Amino acid sequence: MEEHGFDNLRQNLPLSQDSFKELWDTVLTPSISTIPTANNETEGWRPDGNMEMLFLDEHVLAQGFDENLFELPPEISTKDGVTPPASTVPVTTDYPGEYGLQLRFQKSGTAKSVTSTYSELLNKLYCQLAKTSPVEVLVSKALPPGAVLRATAVYKKTEHVAEVVRRCPHHQNEDCAEHRSHLIRVEGSQRAQYFEDPHTKRQSVTVPYEPPQLGSEITTILLSYMCNSSCMGGMNRRPILTILTLETPEGLVLGRMCFEVRVCACPGRDRKTEEENSTKMQNGTKQTKKRKSAPAVPSPRAPDTTSVKKSKSASSAEEEDKDVYVLHVRSRERYEMLKKINDGLDLLEKESKTKTKVSVKHEFALPSSGKRVLQRGERSDSD
Ligand SMILES: [Zn+2]
Repeated sequence: MEEHGFDNLRQNLPLSQDSFKELWDTVLTPSISTIPTANNETEGWRPDGNMEMLFLDEHVLAQGFDENLFELPPEISTKDGVTPPASTVPVTTDYPGEYGLQLRFQKSGTAKSVTSTYSELLNKLYCQLAKTSPVEVLVSKALPPGAVLRATAVYKKTEHVAEVVRRCPHHQNEDCAEHRSHLIRVEGSQRAQYFEDPHTKRQSVTVPYEPPQLGSEITTILLSYMCNSSCMGGMNRRPILTILTLETPEGLVLGRMCFEVRVCACPGRDRKTEEENSTKMQNGTKQTKKRKSAPAVPSPRAPDTTSVKKSKSASSAEEEDKDVYVLHVRSRERYEMLKKINDGLDLLEKESKTKTKVSVKHEFALPSSGKRVLQRGERSDSD
């Protein structure tokens, strides 16, 4: 079992989807909850989110397979046994816990210029890519020393929940930070730490909980989201939730609060639109009409079946988007091509409506600058 032992084993696992090395890593890597953190300088998480102990494992692997290695070394098996390993599907129900955890968001309104705004109605944060969203954290009594706040992103819909939320390849590639694959960042703290759970591969960021300053009852943390919800190869228009947990230094959850997040170019506009739609739907006035008009422009954000509230917000943005966008096109040829697409979309939309409504006129004169008016049914890049 010296040199060739490992390779042989890998080849002899025809039914296994993972390589033997991957299985090996899983066996030897301790769960996140068993790693001593704050008080242990030598074998905790390093700031880059890797574990010191992984290096030991690599040395062991290099020496070939040793049957005894399946017996977990005692020092990394269960250190204190307090917490269970991270669950595969994160819990997304609110749990204020004995410390009465609550979140609050600043009242930013829905002006066009706003970069981050929160909807109480939808429990949803709308923010721009890489812009800071302050989240206010309240607790009802003093926390144990060393408590941390952890932010984790998870897909909202059941059919996507198993997939780990990461940044899209494009945004990862243009970033050289060590935690460049992380969607959620904590701004303004040198003590933010980025983690990837060795088993679930889910990524999270923690920051030590700081008690409110004198005369204040809140602690503010600054989150930013490093991809648009629409990023191809990343979130790809799938709605996400942020789970904010309050934890002991050992990873025991003391409280949990969740909110939906949409990262987009116009947070104010999108919030307003989705709130209006939600209200309309609750009044039940436009329900049937909306269903009929839906196929005109197939919505990538298909209505969610898990709750009434969700399905309202999901398809709202583009349906109600009557804004006119201007697109600068470089050549006449391209302009004509794009115009054809736009006209086609208009036609589709018109045909799908049974009403014989006079359509919006789309014979625009071409302005000398090559500007063109986008009509309803086309999307802006950011949407
Ligand atoms: Zn992206």
